[in-house]
Amino acid sequence: NKGGGASIVLFYQYKEPVWTSREFPKALKLFLSIGRKYEITGRGRIAPEGVNCTLTAPTSKLIRLFCQSLRDDWNIGSLDGNDSSNDTTKLFHDTDFKITDGLPQSQKFKSLSVRKVEELVAYGLEGEKAPSITKFGGTHLTAVDYHKALRDPHTVVIDVRNNYETQIGTIQPPPGGATLLDPKLRNSREWPKWLASKETQQQLNGKKILTFCTGGIRCERATALINQISIDSSSTSSTATPFQPNGVYHMRGGIERYLKTYPQGGYWSGKNYLFDKRMEQVPEFKDSIQIENEVTSKLQAKCCVCRKPWTSYRNQYKCHQIQCGVPVLVCDVCHNNSKSSENQKKQLKCELCRE
Ligand SMILES: [Zn+2]
Ligand SMILES: [Zn+2]
Repeated sequence: NKGGGASIVLFYQYKEPVWTSREFPKALKLFLSIGRKYEITGRGRIAPEGVNCTLTAPTSKLIRLFCQSLRDDWNIGSLDGNDSSNDTTKLFHDTDFKITDGLPQSQKFKSLSVRKVEELVAYGLEGEKAPSITKFGGTHLTAVDYHKALRDPHTVVIDVRNNYETQIGTIQPPPGGATLLDPKLRNSREWPKWLASKETQQQLNGKKILTFCTGGIRCERATALINQISIDSSSTSSTATPFQPNGVYHMRGGIERYLKTYPQGGYWSGKNYLFDKRMEQVPEFKDSIQIENEVTSKLQAKCCVCRKPWTSYRNQYKCHQIQCGVPVLVCDVCHNNSKSSENQKKQLKCELCRE
């Protein structure tokens, strides 16, 4: 099986009610011990509200054993011989583990590191401010049902990712179908503000809302916030127009799952920006020249320095404007010409800072 290459798995799991301060260190300890047992490496984040991970294993078998063990054996009570804490068992029972096999061993992470954070996605909605996913979270659709829903003209589809991700790939609903909305976020922290704006709410009122993101995690809290604002606005006796969308849905497993379900691409255009060494995901059976054309013609992605068509973040530059710092596209020519002069840095300006 080792000849079959390394495997990577992306998954997240929210935990409600959140782990208490007593449970939290135990959850981390248990997670790491299951990981080590199956030679798992990679990066994860753990918060009282759950975990979010990108992990690798040397073989496809080990990665599956790891996922199976999380599903079957998760019980933080087992660490101190206390099996009675039902609340903490079977946490990963319905988790969507998105596995990709056959990767070069060089794409494997060197070590396993799980960082403690306040929030899995930095919405600025930690602790008490977080709208409950159990109570307010949007309805999950399978990739197939989501695909069909994109044909409905009374639907608005929202890309809840950051704008630099959207620039190289996004969903383009069919003509006569849903309307795509790009909130043009620099980061997730800007989502609550965008959603609170009157203009946004007017665009969403009466519409069926579909959201999507890379792997699904960002939609969990994002849809919960939509529903919470909507419910709050209908219960307050204010003269302001209530915010009433016609249902809120998101795609289980996100774009990652959609592209595995529609290897020809479906209604997806371009490349799915990834936060691991693969850097991007493309529809498996779509011609790579066609994909490049989608990014340059339909999405108009260009080098931020010379403004020529460009489709990749591989040269790893960031916007140099104060308080921005998002990834920017820089072509190979500009990359090779680059001297780290101040003048050169000033040209590193993302599309949002240009507007
Ligand atoms: Zn250039
Ligand atoms: Zn910028």
